[in-house]
Amino acid sequence: MKVLVATAETQGDRGNDFHFAVEGELVRIDTPCATDRRDPDGGCGCGRSFAGLNSARPTTTARVADLPFSSADVTEALRSSLAQQGWDPSGAAGEAGCLLELVAELPIGTVVGHRLFEIVVRRPALDVPDPAT
Ligand SMILES: [Zn+2]
Repeated sequence: MKVLVATAETQGDRGNDFHFAVEGELVRIDTPCATDRRDPDGGCGCGRSFAGLNSARPTTTARVADLPFSSADVTEALRSSLAQQGWDPSGAAGEAGCLLELVAELPIGTVVGHRLFEIVVRRPALDVPDPAT
């Protein structure tokens, strides 16, 4: 199924890009903190970045990838990541569902960023065949 993974692709297109996550790891979208809540270009960076589930490091760019995961797998990845970082993992299933819903409509290979609660396409998918369409 389609999931969102960290990528370095299109890094640098925006002046305040950063990429500390591990290429290809699953990512989540954190709730912006007080610093960035009203400004995706704020000083913290969380208003425009995704967080790697394994590395717990942020990146401003993510890619839609087709991986052999079920939604239960994605939920478990999210749950264990949150638990490992000391967060309450009880909302993992709901959050995983939202993430999967976000990417369901996007073609595989699409590179996206995000601005607070909005996903923005940074580079449309190249000529990658999408079995879902
Ligand atoms: Zn922040």
